[in-house]
Amino acid sequence: MDGPGNRFVVFLQGCGFDCLACHNPHTIPRATPRARSITVADLVEEIRPAAPFLSGVTVSGGEATLQAPFVRALFTALRADDDLSRLTTFVDTNGSAPRAVWDDLLPVTDGVMVDLKALDPQVHTYLTGHANDLVLESIPHLARARKLHEVRLLLVPGVNDSPEQLGRTAAWLLSVDPELRVKVIGFRAHGVRAAARGWAEPTPEQREDYRALLTAAGVRDLVVV
Ligand code: SF4
Repeated sequence: MDGPGNRFVVFLQGCGFDCLACHNPHTIPRATPRARSITVADLVEEIRPAAPFLSGVTVSGGEATLQAPFVRALFTALRADDDLSRLTTFVDTNGSAPRAVWDDLLPVTDGVMVDLKALDPQVHTYLTGHANDLVLESIPHLARARKLHEVRLLLVPGVNDSPEQLGRTAAWLLSVDPELRVKVIGFRAHGVRAAARGWAEPTPEQREDYRALLTAAGVRDLVVV
């Protein structure tokens, strides 16, 4: 889920979205007693002992790009370290960063995994509390830069999983990159906030329908979890 191979995952505090289906809502506020501050140098030293067992480092959240200067500094430090430079550097994002942030991060980033909560603006706003303009700009921008590792679709039955929505989403993603890797994640109610706790989870049959629909639409690199 956090990128290729074994990864050291850093969860950064703070997110600009407010997703009803968020499994880590305590990471949404910019500050909380549950989070700790750490310097880049100290984090590098926390990563070092695990390095022999790692393929790379992924920065997640919350929304990692809200602390882009820290992410850039961390990835730069890893690349400059003789013992750690072989670790790949990935960002796990909701896609809401403006282009200038990506242009700052991409020179030191190997791959980016982006959530697309919904292609339709009104559905996206319902699910996240925010518009998806920046998400729809980030995905093609990252693909052009050859840094888009995968796009993740969190599917909620009856909300964003209709055949019509999935067909349009697939068409849009394939217009960005016909070889794009797509990961479908079925909604899970465990751990979400009260507003989403009553939502249905996709059945095994619905998950197979997602797979069949997206495959028929032309998605060749597809994972359904
Ligand atoms: S983008 Fe991710 S971390 Fe932010 S609110 Fe949504 S699910 Fe939670």
